[in-house]
Amino acid sequence: MIGILGGTFDPVHFGHLRPALDIQQALGLEEIRLLPCHIPPHRPQPVADGAQRAAMLAAAVRNYPEFSLDRRELERDGPSWTFDTLTSLRAGLGTQSLCLLIGMDAFHGLPTWHRWHELIDLCHMVVMTRPGSEIHAAGELEKFISRHRIVDSAELESHAAGRILFHDVTQLEISATRIRTLLTQGESAGFLVPEAVLEIIRREGLYQAGSH
Ligand code: ATP
Repeated sequence: MIGILGGTFDPVHFGHLRPALDIQQALGLEEIRLLPCHIPPHRPQPVADGAQRAAMLAAAVRNYPEFSLDRRELERDGPSWTFDTLTSLRAGLGTQSLCLLIGMDAFHGLPTWHRWHELIDLCHMVVMTRPGSEIHAAGELEKFISRHRIVDSAELESHAAGRILFHDVTQLEISATRIRTLLTQGESAGFLVPEAVLEIIRREGLYQAGSH
């Protein structure tokens, strides 16, 4: 069983990593693949380029063999549609279970994703929730949840795709936006991102006032 976590990762921080590790351990995933997205030229660009975002991810997980970096979205031109990424992953995995890890906020926006109804045919969705939180969904998303939701995580192993599991994770109120703001103001981002990521930020002069 493989887990994937996509994002901009501009930069990667502990709010991405700790919840992913929680899920990896709780569900016994063999591997978590981190997929930085490619941003097409006509959309707001991340501050760090694809190579820098990938380098920060690689450095962040250097001592965690269960985490790996997957560059396929960076290597593909045009928008990073999750549908295309999952189709390409599925082709390499055969009937192995594939779990798409999604933050609760991102999950609420699911109905805006390209071909969103079809994603569940390619993977399971593991929604990373805040302990004790309620799921607020209406309309199409509510119907989609009731059709696919499971409470027993064992079903993730016995099927390759098609299930939604809500799973509590450690809450860390960290966002990449906040980190970029701190650094732009000349303040420290210490204890919010791994030390190896801070070193790359320093070396590359990223997120400084006037650098973007
Ligand atoms: P930004 O502040 O630039 O919008 P971000 O920190 O929210 O970035 P993304 O790269 O957009 O990070 O997020 C990738 C994935 O990680 C999304 O599914 C998002 O919901 C999840 N995520 C981001 N921050 C956290 C956090 N603190 N706790 C749990 N999940 C998170």
